[in-house]
Amino acid sequence: MRIIAFGAHPDDCELCCGGTTAKWVRDGHAVKYVSLTNGNVGHFTRHGDELAAIRRAEVEQCARILGIETQVLDINDGELEPSLANRQRVIRLIRDWQADIVLCHRPNDYHPDHRYTGQLVQDAAVLLLAKFYLPDVPALERNPVFLYYADEFQKPVPFTPSVVVGIDDVIDVKRALIDALPSQFADRDSWMGARMQGLPDDDDGRRIHIREWLLGRERRIAQRFRTQLADRYGADDAGRITHAEAFERSEYGAQLSDAKLDALFPR
Ligand SMILES: [Zn+2]
Repeated sequence: MRIIAFGAHPDDCELCCGGTTAKWVRDGHAVKYVSLTNGNVGHFTRHGDELAAIRRAEVEQCARILGIETQVLDINDGELEPSLANRQRVIRLIRDWQADIVLCHRPNDYHPDHRYTGQLVQDAAVLLLAKFYLPDVPALERNPVFLYYADEFQKPVPFTPSVVVGIDDVIDVKRALIDALPSQFADRDSWMGARMQGLPDDDDGRRIHIREWLLGRERRIAQRFRTQLADRYGADDAGRITHAEAFERSEYGAQLSDAKLDALFPR
């Protein structure tokens, strides 16, 4: 299979599906991450082209860790718009990758870049098969399956998982991804390093504290969706899973039965 994951910033795909990606790659599938913005704002001493270059290098390191492709579009952080031009860029990316699975944020989220990433990817779905639309990139023969990453927003509707993937066996890969993103999560002046209260003073202590805090999201997913984990792994195995990633099917793109959708995801 060929999977393409869209994130708003150069860390979103890594955080939202890094564990599942490690398993897909292990199983022989091809994955590409796309960050729709260049992340040139979220730091407290660096910015602009310098920060964008740092962040591109960080996600390239993550791609080497995972064995995937990665691309960062040159759109300024905080300025992603759900424009026709951006929709067409997304369509071209999905077609170029010949994607079977497309992942993105849900279109309700605190960050406008996340919202518009969800909007742009959703809006691309209907046009992928239309051969006379953007004919310079061959249309797909089959609609991919579209899914959303897990989040904790409650309105207008809470995230409802269609597939939950236990990632304890690849959690050290996810740790390595977070460690490879120091301008986001480890530097003293990184987004989290500067904003989080009560951090240890030393570099290693700060990096590990933030990283384990971030992995709280995967622990909460495993707790919230224990029932779905039990359906997938059996009650005994599910009871032992402490970290998970989850995905919700979109109503756009290909509509598969629960069993067929489940079979697309690693165990
Ligand atoms: Zn983001």
